Amino acid sequence: MSDPATLREQALSLLASGRATSRADLVETLQVAPSTVSSVVRRLLEDGVILEEGVGVSTGGRRPKILRLRHSGGVYGVAELGAGHARIGLCSTDGSLLAVEESVIDIGAGPSPVFDEVSAAFARIGPGQDLLGVGIALPGPVEYPFGRLIGPARMPGWSGYDAQSDLHDRFGVTVVVDNDAKAAAIGEHVVRQADGGDMIYVKAGTGIGGCLVSGGQIYRGGRGLSGDVTHVRVADSGERECSCGGRGCLETVASGAALARDLAGRGLPVTSTRDVISATVNADPAVVTTVRHAGRLLGVALSGLVNFLNPDRVVIGGALSSLDVYVAAARGMLYERCLASMTQSLTIEASLAGPDAALLGLAHLVRAATPQKVA
Ligand SMILES: [Zn+2]
Repeated sequence: MSDPATLREQALSLLASGRATSRADLVETLQVAPSTVSSVVRRLLEDGVILEEGVGVSTGGRRPKILRLRHSGGVYGVAELGAGHARIGLCSTDGSLLAVEESVIDIGAGPSPVFDEVSAAFARIGPGQDLLGVGIALPGPVEYPFGRLIGPARMPGWSGYDAQSDLHDRFGVTVVVDNDAKAAAIGEHVVRQADGGDMIYVKAGTGIGGCLVSGGQIYRGGRGLSGDVTHVRVADSGERECSCGGRGCLETVASGAALARDLAGRGLPVTSTRDVISATVNADPAVVTTVRHAGRLLGVALSGLVNFLNPDRVVIGGALSSLDVYVAAARGMLYERCLASMTQSLTIEASLAGPDAALLGLAHLVRAATPQKVA
């Protein structure tokens, strides 16, 4: 059975697209108990995301109340692109997510077909909704604030692509383009509110991105290219060739792509980061050992950053953060390698914002960049 957060997203997607207009529709489509739907709907009503309106046609019993998204006078479209999947959503002008869906994409096909799909998904999730702004998170180095990709190793055909102007032409609204780890770090910071302190956020997925949030601000660096922890050279890495042209980078040993390649090389049916996660969750001992080793090497790469920056917390997000063994191994290595004076007050934990971190961060950025309507 789905967890409450997933059910909430599924319910919102169904209501936003008009595929469901009542509690009964949700029960039927989601195949869950009426009491479960009632509690999800109650939370959505309390949060002001949806409202009840009139009554629908009875199918025998009491006439159902119609549920619909609260009219917001427009929405922001947000999308986080990965190598093979995109997480695409709509959010209200107060920055809360209304609906999310996942689409299959091929980032290697280049910008045009990928953004055709993103555009189609916006229309599919919220038909008839006015787009007031668009935020896109890309899995490569993005020059900020110009929104241009600089030498993205895993995105053939994208280098030098001016995403911000191209997307402004396409959508005709304010567009914000950022690196995926930075967008996720902002989302994590927003979710934690004042509780975050100075934070190193790591997005461990197919590649590994990072970001420092200090004093409530993203540290971007001279060209906006900070946080490229994936190409930090680590010891015990076997000196493998990296997508950047170098050797021995963290990415070659601790990323989802590296784990998938290692496990496939041993004859396991693994082709993606998702397969790595399934194999680990199924507790194949050889896979768990490999994932633990990858987590330890992430800890090695982060230990130098922690000693240098003395953050209050290290937060591990991205798909691999769902694996306790990976996070625990990174934590163990950080405690082993960092100065005791650094780790005494250091919290190392998995992301609270979870898979929606980047979308929440984009919503925050788009909101800040879009002129607000005066009521
Ligand atoms: Zn590299």
